[in-house]
Order: sequence, then C-alpha cells, then structure tokens
Amino acid sequence: MSHISEVLVVGAGPAGSSVAYYLSCLGVRVHVIEKAKFPRDKICGDGLTPRAVTELVRMGIDISDHKQWPRNYGIRAYGAGHTIEVPWPELSSMPNYGLAKRRKELDHLLIQRAVSAGATLDEETVVTAPILHERTGCVIGVKARKKTTKEEVSYYARLIVDAGGVAARLATSLGRVQNQSRPMGVAHRTYIKSPLAATDMMESQLELWEGKAGQSAIAPGYGWAWPVSDSVVNVGLGSLSSHGAPKGMDYRSMFATWMENAPKEWEFTEENQLEPLRGAALPMGFNRKPLYERGLLLVGDAGGMVSPFNGEGIAYALQSGRVAADIIAQALSRTSTVAFQKTLEEYPKFMKNELGGYYTMGRIFAYLIEKPVVMQACVKYGLPRPMLMRLVMKLLSDAYDKNGGDWMDRLIATLAKVVPGA
Ligand SMILES: Cc1cc2nc3c(=O)[nH]c(=O)nc-3n(C[C@H](O)[C@H](O)[C@H](O)COP(=O)(O)OP(=O)(O)OC[C@H]3O[C@@H](n4cnc5c(N)ncnc54)[C@H](O)[C@@H]3O)c2cc1C
Repeated sequence: MSHISEVLVVGAGPAGSSVAYYLSCLGVRVHVIEKAKFPRDKICGDGLTPRAVTELVRMGIDISDHKQWPRNYGIRAYGAGHTIEVPWPELSSMPNYGLAKRRKELDHLLIQRAVSAGATLDEETVVTAPILHERTGCVIGVKARKKTTKEEVSYYARLIVDAGGVAARLATSLGRVQNQSRPMGVAHRTYIKSPLAATDMMESQLELWEGKAGQSAIAPGYGWAWPVSDSVVNVGLGSLSSHGAPKGMDYRSMFATWMENAPKEWEFTEENQLEPLRGAALPMGFNRKPLYERGLLLVGDAGGMVSPFNGEGIAYALQSGRVAADIIAQALSRTSTVAFQKTLEEYPKFMKNELGGYYTMGRIFAYLIEKPVVMQACVKYGLPRPMLMRLVMKLLSDAYDKNGGDWMDRLIATLAKVVPGA
C-alpha cells in the first residue's frame, strides 16, 4: 500500500503539530505519521515560559481557563541560603506569565488543532526507514509499519519533515548524527500530590545536595517543581553537559535526596509520588545539522533545538514548525526543482539568524556552569542582586523584546547578534 501527499511529517509532538497546522492553514496537503496513539504521554517538565505561551496563542489554543491552564508569574529560586522571586518580565512581545500543562493533554490539543486545520494523521504507525530517489539520493518518502496490523506502508511526498524528537530516526539513518561538541541535557521527572500546587510561581532549586542540605557536596544539577493542577506538581531534576550527555550520575538517588531535603510542608513523600521517575535526553544548541538537505527538513528536538540555558524545548519546537511551514509553502510555489531546493535552503539560514547567536551564548553558559565552583559562585553572589537576577531571568528564558525594550533587552539582543551563530 502507498500514500501520497505534498508534505509528510514524521512525529506529532509540538514540532510536528506546529508545522502541520501552519501548512494546513496555507492550503498545503500535509500528512502526519505518529507511532503512538493520542492521548499519549511524553516525559517532560510540562513548563511553558512566556515564549511558549506566545506560540500557543499564535496557534489559536484557548488558554483562558485558569483552572485548565495554571498560570505562573515568575520563578522562585533557592540557593546558597537565599530565596528570591523574579517575576516574568513585562514585554511587548510576550505575556508576563507562563503556564504548565501535562504533555498528555497539550500534545493532544496541538495535533487536534492541526487536524482541524486540514492535516491528516496516521497514529500507531512507526516510520522505519527513508525512501531515497535512485539517482539523486534525495528523500522522497518513508517506509512505515502499522502497529495494529503489522502492515508495511510506503508514504511519498515532495518534502519530508523529521519531527521525530531526540532520536530523529530518519535524520540519523541518513548520517545526520548528533554533534557531540554541542551541549546535551538529561532530565527526569515525576508527578507528586502536594500543597505546593497552590503556588503561582515556578520553584527552582539551584543546589542539589548529595546528602544532608548544607552538610554535603553539591551535585551537578538543578531541580524544579511547579503546579500542573490544583493538587499536583511536576517535579524533576536535570543536569547539563557542554558536550555529549552528562555521564555517571545516579538520578534516582539524587532525586530521593532532593525529596528528603525539600521543605517538609511540600509533602514530597513516596506515598504522594503518583508515577515512577522517568527521564530522557535534551538535545541542545542545534546539535543536529544541517536542518535541511536533500529532501529532509528537521524541526524541534530532531534538530537539537532545546535551549542550553534552561532546558526549554517546546517553544522552539513550535517556532521551528511555524518558520518551516512558511518556507515550505513558498518552496512549493516555485516552478523548478532548483528554485524549490534553493527556497528550502533558506530554512537553516533563517533559524541560525533567529536563534544561532542565542544558542552560542547558551553553549558558553553550559561550559561555565558545568563547573561546580562557577555554579556555586554564581548562586552565592548572583542571587542576592535583584537587578542582576532580572537580567539573568530574561537571558535564561529568552524572554526579552528583540526590538526596542529596556537596556537589558537591548544588551541581550546585541550580544545575540554579535556572537557567531551556532
Ligand atoms: C525530563 C524532561 C523535562 C523537560 N521539561 C521541559 C519543560 O518544562 N519545558 C519545555 O519547553 N521543554 C521541556 N523539555 C523538552 C521538551 O520535552 C522537548 O523539547 C519537546 O518535546 C520537543 O518537541 P518535538 O515535537 O520536537 O519532539 P517530541 O515531543 O519528542 O515529539 C516527537 C514525536 O515523534 C514521534 N516519533 C518518534 N519516532 C517516530 C517514528 N519512527 N515514527 C513515528 N513517530 C515517531 C514520537 O512518538 C513523538 O510523538 C523537557 C524534556 C525532558 C526529557
């Protein structure tokens, strides 16, 4: 059996749903293939910064119900004996709040949005290999296996988009492997029933102790906790390496120690833990390139677009899908193959221009803070300085006005422009 469309999207996470949604809005025939069946879970912190909220609003997602979409108004950070609260900045380009939404619900909403705009979807269909043009070697389709019937299906399209997440099976099989000199994170999370769910801040633990708080060594990682409903918080911890994945860390014992050290009133007990701790990798700073070559275009985690500053990937997955859709629709309007290819080659350039400088700064950040001495010094001397922390907040969450804004926005925008793009 075979199937033909204009654009084929592999993976229906935020990146795949975004590209499918925007392409459908532009009248392009787009087909999405997803190995899971919705609603499906994805290991994630479920945190949506103002940048991600902006992308959701662009896609017409209704976020007005505060009960369904718990809002947070900033970050409460703990470290070196200090507790500080930094509100999300007031900007013209983004709202002054973030959200949290379980991925089981968020991803389902996003793919429904794409389908209601006109995209078609095959669930429970695993893409197994690319189909290449005999003479040019360009990707012209994919082979897939239906999970329920075991049937083998071939799909063909003028363009294939790999939105398959960190594994990026298609890109990998074509030799587009992860660049080990780019930063990589590893994070684990679970859900806990906790009174902390009443907070409207994102709690961030900048010091994870190996043993008793204040009396043991500091482990190279950070922790988070924020509400996803009025009784449940998403709790997790992550670590970062400036190149390749962080190795040799016992996340389970780190997590158990953090649970013990957390304030007792949060009730982070085993009985209140609702799911096992589960983890996954975070590919950062464009660690897989080129983002377009020979008929295959990469969006989201497949292109390594998680921010090295804060581990956020949803906003960039949505953004890359939006940008890609615009360029793909332009390419499809060209009348020659040369012009089609040339237009698609604009996508990597555009993404580099948008995020390359910022990701280069993120790589420097990752290199510095993976050294515990530097991290401890930053926490000790940085946290008590409110003005500095407001600047750090804008930088780490990519929440600044690119045009105009205050001196902090202009400083970050200038730095992102002058450093070479990742
Ligand atoms: C523990 C953890 C915490 C995180 N916390 C946050 C956070 O709080 N905020 C944030 O913004 N980001 C967070 N991230 C990062 C975020 O989860 C990712 O950046 C985001 O999911 C990327 O979206 P995507 O669409 O590119 O990929 P994914 O969400 O991974 O979607 C890929 C899709 O492709 C499908 N697929 C894969 N292979 C195939 C195949 N062969 N055939 C068919 N379908 C396939 C998958 O089933 C999946 O549905 C976190 C990550 C981890 C691991």
